[in-house]
Amino acid sequence: MSEFDYDLFVIGGGSGGVRAARVAAGEAGAKVALAEEDRYGGTCVIRGCVPKKLMVFASEYAAMPADARAYGWDIADGSFDWDRFKAKLDAELDRLEGVYRKLLKGSGVETFDARARLKDAHTVELSTGETFTAKHILIATGGRPVRPDMPNAHLGMVSDDIFHLKELPKTVLIIGGGYIACEFACILHGLGVEVTQYYRGAQILRGFDDEARGLISDSMQERGIKLHVGTDIVEMCHADHEKVAGPVEERQYGHDDLTDEAHGPEGPIRVKATNGEELVYDAVFFATGRRPNSDDMGLEELGLALARNGAIEVDDYSQTKVPSIYAIGDVTDRVNLTPVAIREGMAFVETVFKGNPTKVDHELIPSAVFTQPEFGTIGLTEEQARDQEPVEVYCTSFRPMQSAFAETTDRVLMKLIVSQETRKVLGCHIVAPGAGEMIQLAGIAVKMGATKEDFDRTVAVHPTMSEEIVTMRNPVRKA
Ligand code: NDP
Repeated sequence: MSEFDYDLFVIGGGSGGVRAARVAAGEAGAKVALAEEDRYGGTCVIRGCVPKKLMVFASEYAAMPADARAYGWDIADGSFDWDRFKAKLDAELDRLEGVYRKLLKGSGVETFDARARLKDAHTVELSTGETFTAKHILIATGGRPVRPDMPNAHLGMVSDDIFHLKELPKTVLIIGGGYIACEFACILHGLGVEVTQYYRGAQILRGFDDEARGLISDSMQERGIKLHVGTDIVEMCHADHEKVAGPVEERQYGHDDLTDEAHGPEGPIRVKATNGEELVYDAVFFATGRRPNSDDMGLEELGLALARNGAIEVDDYSQTKVPSIYAIGDVTDRVNLTPVAIREGMAFVETVFKGNPTKVDHELIPSAVFTQPEFGTIGLTEEQARDQEPVEVYCTSFRPMQSAFAETTDRVLMKLIVSQETRKVLGCHIVAPGAGEMIQLAGIAVKMGATKEDFDRTVAVHPTMSEEIVTMRNPVRKA
């Protein structure tokens, strides 16, 4: 009989926490409990990847009637019904949350719909007043969107709020140039919203390959998104207030008091920008980054090290400074992607419950940005690779057959960064419809250490866009 109530107590029912709990209980036979204060499935399923991707699909239909007409179809433009889509979306998320709960139950995990904080290295205290002890505690509480620190920032939405909108705004100002800003600029534009985007830096999607960023930025603007780089918001207030930054009563919404009730944006909102523009938007959407959810959990009192942004510091095995406490996923701010959190959860179970110490491999992780056009990427950017060693760059940009025939301007970019010394492909960057699907497969080759000659030996699949990845014969430059 164990001295603890549980072998493992998991805090957080998102992708990472649920997987770790399920595998520890189902495969390793551990006695496991899990507490979740919000909905099961976490950011990815409830207010991130899944609803976002469904909105991407919805928005992509906007261009289809015109494309179909170019291919001989007699088809009229339609209109988008947010209410109809949202009802289906809500039902789908309910279904998925049910699946998550069922999976936990089926593996024998005991669940608590409550907020949890740590009392000591082995004790968890729930908002229900109950306390439980566990041999190991796993923190998988994820992250949340943050607004910039400026007066009236609470008037702006964050990504969590998008999925609860009562109606779509007619005009929106998006602040930021990262994944979320760019994806939602494209989604909302596709759904018929007039989108303006401000990014404070010189080019959107900082950290990604420069040529890919340039093509995505051009394509977004060609589609009608008013993108202003080197531009930021200075002041904002309710449009009916006379002066920007006038007094506005405080009202918070977003992650902290997220409800399932639909609500509208706070607009119209008057915004003054660094470029001198002073305009009114129905909504302002801050996509200005995310922060780990580690507040008010009793962590610092216990001696856990936290970074300045609140990220829990862990070693290669996801173990914190307190040996019985581990942390995985966005709360550790390593690589903030769902599949990475899941892998960190699996590695934790291997290490702690299966006697097989396993580090998570954070190298060469493929990922996609679901802009329109889509972007798939793995490995080093040209800029990073050049700093590391002499490289060859193979690159092609072209109008794919499907859009050339429809006479649209969409272009595709395929780019390989190759080590001059080892011939290994160090980076692969694809901007194209379906680039997320392509990079998953190209990613296997890159992860295996394929050389440029391995790519060349592979026969092209014709006629496809992705055949270009194996037919680029000469480098466009050496650097
Ligand atoms: P990012 O950190 O990628 O981007 C934040 C953006 O906001 C940057 O452009 C940043 O500018 C800007 N910014 C930050 N603070 C301010 C400020 N005070 N005023 C003006 N602009 C500001 O965060 P996201 O929220 O877009 O995404 C968070 C994470 O979620 C990603 O890193 C990714 O890991 C994950 N994600 C992954 C997706 C996918 O895989 N498809 C989709 C969505 C999210 P600057 O560049 O100058 O710092």
